[in-house]
Parts: sequence; C-alpha cells; structure tokens
Amino acid sequence: EPKIRIGIAGYGNLGKGVEFAISQQPDMELAGIFTRRDPDSVHPVGDRVSVYPLANVEDYTEEVDVMILCGGSRADLPEQGPALAKLFTTVDSFDTHAKIPEYFDALEEAAKPAGTTALLSVGWDPGLFSLNRLYGETVLADGVTYTFWGKGLSQGHSDAVRRIEGVKNAVQYTIPSDEAISKVRAGEQPELSTREKHVRECYVVLKEGADAAAVEETIVTMPDYFADYDTTVSFISEDEMQQNHSSMPHGGFVIRSGKTGNGTNQVMEYSLTLDSNPEFTSSVLTAYARAAHRLNKSGQHGAKTVFDVPPGLLSPKSPAQLRKELL
Ligand code: NDP
Repeated sequence: EPKIRIGIAGYGNLGKGVEFAISQQPDMELAGIFTRRDPDSVHPVGDRVSVYPLANVEDYTEEVDVMILCGGSRADLPEQGPALAKLFTTVDSFDTHAKIPEYFDALEEAAKPAGTTALLSVGWDPGLFSLNRLYGETVLADGVTYTFWGKGLSQGHSDAVRRIEGVKNAVQYTIPSDEAISKVRAGEQPELSTREKHVRECYVVLKEGADAAAVEETIVTMPDYFADYDTTVSFISEDEMQQNHSSMPHGGFVIRSGKTGNGTNQVMEYSLTLDSNPEFTSSVLTAYARAAHRLNKSGQHGAKTVFDVPPGLLSPKSPAQLRKELL
C-alpha cells in the first residue's frame, strides 16, 4: 500500500501539530506545506519538508491525497475550505458552531461536483465531544447532556480581549465550576445557567498609559463573550505573561445523565485533559485524514462530518485486526 500523502494548508499552531502527528502515523507522509506567506519565511520543524505558496496549490493535485486545512475558523476557512475542496479531499477543524450548517453547504457545493470529500469540523469540540454528545443522547434517551470546557485557554476569547484599546497582550482561561460538575455526576440533572457552569479568568498586559478600570469594564460587559459569565481580570507584566501563560492547555467534559427503567440513574462521562490544545486537535485531524481518504476512495464524495465516519476508518489497523484486538 502506498502511503497517504498529506498536505498542510496554513502553518500556524495546528499546521505544526499536524507535521508532528503525521510522523507518528505509519501509513502517512507529508507531501508539503502550503502557506500564504513567503515560503522562505516559514520554517517547518522537519528539515526535509518543502514549503510552497498556497497560491500555486492547484499544481499539486497529483501529489497530495488529503489536504489538512489548518487555517483559522473566523477568516481563513470560510474562504479556503470551499476553494481547496474543489481540488483536494480535505479535513478541517471549523469550530464556529453556529455557522457549521452554512459552511457545510458551501463545502458540499464545492466537493460534490469535484468528486472530493470534505470532512469538516473535526477536532475535539466540535469533533470527539460531538460524537460523545450523540452517544449520550441516543443511549440514554431520557436525560440531559452537559458540556463543560476547561480549564483551558480560549483562543477566541483571548483575541477578543487583545482587540480592546489599551491592551497589549491577553489570555483568557475558561474554568468549569466544580460545584456544577459534582451535581451533574451525582445524577441530579440540575438546570445550570451559563454563569453557573463556567467562570472566566483574564490575564491582561496593558499598553503604557492605558486605563485599567476602563479595560476591565469593557471586558466584563462584552456581549456574547463575557457579559453572561463571572469574569475576573488580573493585570500582569509582559514577563509574567511569557513565563506563566504561554502554553495552550485545554480540555473538558461531556456528561450525559439519564434514567432507564423505573428511574434508574445512569451517567456517561467523557473527559479530556490536554496540555496542548493545538497538538491534540492536530492529532485528531490527522487520524481523520485517513478516514477522509478511505471515504473518498469508496466513492463517498461531498461534505461529511464526524457523524458520517465509521470509527474503524480512523485506524491504520484492518477490520479483522480491530475485531481481534479492541472489540
Ligand atoms: P493560528 O493563528 O496559529 O494559525 C492560523 C493561520 O495563521 C495559519 O494557518 C497561518 O496561515 C496564519 N499565520 C499568519 N501568520 C502567521 C505566523 N506568523 N505564525 C503562524 N501562523 C501564521 O491558529 P491555530 O492553528 O491555533 O488554530 C486554527 C483554528 O483551529 C482556530 O481558528 C480554531 O478555530 C480551530 N480549532 C478547532 C478546534 C476543534 O476542536 N475543532 C480546537 C482548536 C482549534 P499561513 O501559513 O497561510 O500564513
């Protein structure tokens, strides 16, 4: 069997993570990295890896089996997803939950006529958490599903704080409430408000002369991002930021609390504790690249999500080997 040739579109945190993840997969090789920046300014971790201009990507359709899209969900993927799905079988981690249906339609329109397969919103949330929400609500049909995030650095919320006038640098952590999780695990099925489930912690470096009180007020009252949460804001130095806040931890829990029979309590829980959110997300993307390749070869073209992927397709092992070892 020839190895699956993977292309990386966009070389940020996820791009780097995918480069590492490919080296851990026995049946994959890296065909190249594609970037919008000057290729000479992008330095892959591996020394024999080629970097090409994304603008010339259509010249590489014969060299790449699956393109893993590592661009940002807000501005990159809505444009790059459909454009690249016309040329390649793709996998991406699009995570703007509210816009997934619209993004799915755009990919379906691009991939279907091209005969490619576009696997979207793969990662952990959306992604592995989505699968666990599905298992939970299907198996425990009478019940409630809870998703808790953290403790984790939230990129979107950190960016929102960084865009505030007077802010030089900032990070935001989302922290699940211990009290809320205990109630859920005990099968109490509490009704939890947004405010009761998580708290948000911001660490902010101010620009010289910036008004701390004004910045704090802008943060805690920001609609959609902070207004519905208990948020704490701490002002720190750039040195402290570099020393204590440069890793990207994340994780969380999907818990389904349900009842079977005559009111018997059943609780299903799936949890992730991640020291690096992007490295983990990249590993999920890479495993799903194998599935995307197999779906495409079996004639399943168009937009697909994790719900459309039979789990065995993720594994490099044969179905017989999986039955023997993991069933
Ligand atoms: P980054 O900001 O690190 O990278 C995004 C893009 O920025 C890159 O593809 C790169 O494209 C470009 N870029 C421009 N300048 C630079 C530079 N100097 N250094 C690095 N990259 C640069 O984002 P992440 O990789 O951390 O995350 C990508 C997306 O993944 C996020 O938007 C998030 O929504 C999503 N995500 C999804 C998860 C899930 O569970 N589904 C979990 C985690 C993240 P180019 O090379 O073309 O310039």
